Amino acid sequence: MEETENMKHFTGRELPDNALKASMADGTPYVLPPWRVNDIILLAIETLSDVDYYRDDFDYKKMIREQGIKIKKFSAFSPDNLEKFRKISLSRWEEGICALFPHPVTGEQCRMIAYNENRNSIECMQIVFHEYAHIKLHHTQQSINGEVEATCFALAMTIFLLLEQLFHVGRTVVNAAGKPFLVQTIRNAIKQKEVV
Ligand SMILES: [Zn+2]
Repeated sequence: MEETENMKHFTGRELPDNALKASMADGTPYVLPPWRVNDIILLAIETLSDVDYYRDDFDYKKMIREQGIKIKKFSAFSPDNLEKFRKISLSRWEEGICALFPHPVTGEQCRMIAYNENRNSIECMQIVFHEYAHIKLHHTQQSINGEVEATCFALAMTIFLLLEQLFHVGRTVVNAAGKPFLVQTIRNAIKQKEVV
């Protein structure tokens, strides 16, 4: 079945013959409309700018933890527990888990991200951002579209942080023109009409 094949694709169990041909259950290709990509780019820079991501001591995991979201490594779980969390995960990706569940005692909503720590540091960051995206984008269930959105968000976050780490793009702009300028300029740029 088409749906099952796509699921395998996104869980990494098996790649389709031609990923470009894969589509959602109703035949819609799993591409995002360009305005949605723009929304996600903007959400990424707003999220980062809110916490002054150009600071020397910026720590992306701390940023997420300070929003009340727990971050765990896969190795913190027994295989059984990991499997339980996989079942309730909003994510279809095997590299990470995003779980929202009531606290067993207080009933309070818990939000948890778990990631496969057997990856290099940039890959771990992408996994954590992908799972974080499911929360930021208010996904409520597993979906192929949700996977594409989460990966898009993780990509945008990673690129902003890499450019910062390597070239201090954000810091340079904020020092020269102020914090509102950074986000506003990106917002204006992605809303600009094409010049023909
Ligand atoms: Zn996911």
